[in-house]
Amino acid sequence: MYDVIVVGARVSGSPTAMLLARAGHRILLVDRATFPSAKPPATNLIHPPGVLRLKRWGLLDEVLATGCPPITHYGLESGPARLMAPLPPAEDVAFALSPERETLDEILVRAAGKAGAELWEGADVHRLLTDDGAVTGIEVRGRGGDALVARARVVVGADGSNSKVARLVDAAKYRARGVLNKSSWTYWSDLPHDGKVRTYRHRHRHAFTWPTHDGLTIVGVAWPTADFAVRDPDATERAVVEVFDDVDPDFAQRLRETKRADRWMTGAVPNFLRAPAGQGWALVGDAGYTRDPITAAGIMESLRSAELLAEVIDDGLSGRRDLTEALAGYGQRRDDLVTAHYEYTCDYATVADHSAEELEFIQAMTRSPVHAAGMVGVFAGSVTPQQFYSRASIHDLLDYVPRGRDAAWRVRFVRWLVKGVPGRLGPARRLGDRLIAGHIGAMGKYLLAPGSG
Ligand SMILES: Cc1cc2nc3c(=O)[nH]c(=O)nc-3n(C[C@H](O)[C@H](O)[C@H](O)COP(=O)(O)OP(=O)(O)OC[C@H]3O[C@@H](n4cnc5c(N)ncnc54)[C@H](O)[C@@H]3O)c2cc1C
Repeated sequence: MYDVIVVGARVSGSPTAMLLARAGHRILLVDRATFPSAKPPATNLIHPPGVLRLKRWGLLDEVLATGCPPITHYGLESGPARLMAPLPPAEDVAFALSPERETLDEILVRAAGKAGAELWEGADVHRLLTDDGAVTGIEVRGRGGDALVARARVVVGADGSNSKVARLVDAAKYRARGVLNKSSWTYWSDLPHDGKVRTYRHRHRHAFTWPTHDGLTIVGVAWPTADFAVRDPDATERAVVEVFDDVDPDFAQRLRETKRADRWMTGAVPNFLRAPAGQGWALVGDAGYTRDPITAAGIMESLRSAELLAEVIDDGLSGRRDLTEALAGYGQRRDDLVTAHYEYTCDYATVADHSAEELEFIQAMTRSPVHAAGMVGVFAGSVTPQQFYSRASIHDLLDYVPRGRDAAWRVRFVRWLVKGVPGRLGPARRLGDRLIAGHIGAMGKYLLAPGSG
């Protein structure tokens, strides 16, 4: 009998198992893969809140030693708006990393083993054991077809977005948005490593590039689903370089002069949250929350929700709280942690062009270092949309809106309403806020939220 069985041993499962084993619990970690296991078809940027978890757990030096340089700045270019800002810190960590996924997964699974978790590799979970509606264990099929059972007080599904555990417990999806875009990317050699993530939004294309591991650079483009075409590798390369021609001709030229170092890969990810816990079970990582990779947040979210779930289960197993109650509370805490960034990601993932007003706001951010860092902090998950789009923050930003341009007329109007009507400030402000909110997309609701800044 184990205390906890964790199904899935990558960026969400291994840390959950490691933290619970370190807390003294008896843990079984199961994966149908064997490690080291081929890298999943995904890019690999880890925002500062994720890097912070690696540091807290004593794994950061090992990850840094694999040859992935710190990334200190994120940028967004969209037409005339060019924003590049230093990452605001998550506690004392102000850099991101983009380590090789196979190596990262290997470091995490070995850390779980070192902490005392027992690992079953090549073991496919195909059935859950239940008792009176509560999950009590798993049945696995090994490589040779042999069936094994294991029992535990909690079974954790860390088995990815197509989670078998979620299907077996019938965990309901909510806030689902389907697939919003499709991307193609690869790794490039001989491009300068300057510690910057560059993203570009133009004509319904989202182009991205950043330094990753072993001197390589990720280069890719996301298209709205309806515009995505399946192409052969040469045509994919031409299509990607053409997008860079449009948004950063110098970079496009460098791509022509240097070499692709890997095959072209394609990804499309649906967006949803799943009910993350019930009697004797919980979900963590992509199993409980899958979102478009456009904000590159999956690893960061997996690491921080592993920490949250391990704390919740430890509370229950050590008797500080009733286990069923603790698991029930996990759902709300997980949603509080991820929902605003999830909505931000879904909005971003439509790859819609920025409106003239949004561009004015982005240009205003380039003049205000605090807002520039805040904006990249929202992307990176270290500043919440509630903080950045709060009334106080947006009102401050209005001081930096460029003056004298035709496209800025509505913003200037709003500015007048918000700041310049003595004696009628209350109602005028509320009207002004509603007008601004209507022009800054889905996040505008945080400006209008009760208690906002
Ligand atoms: C195209 C693309 C680009 C991305 N780019 C980024 C990025 O730049 N940055 C970022 O942070 N995130 C990115 N992500 C998201 C990130 O890859 C995921 O969020 C992350 O891998 C989720 O980790 P996980 O451990 O929850 O699940 P997974 O990595 O999916 O691991 C699940 C594990 O469960 C095992 N498993 C599944 N079913 C069973 C079973 N029945 N029995 C036993 N074992 C089982 C699997 O073998 C696997 O090892 C990207 C994703 C995609 C698709």
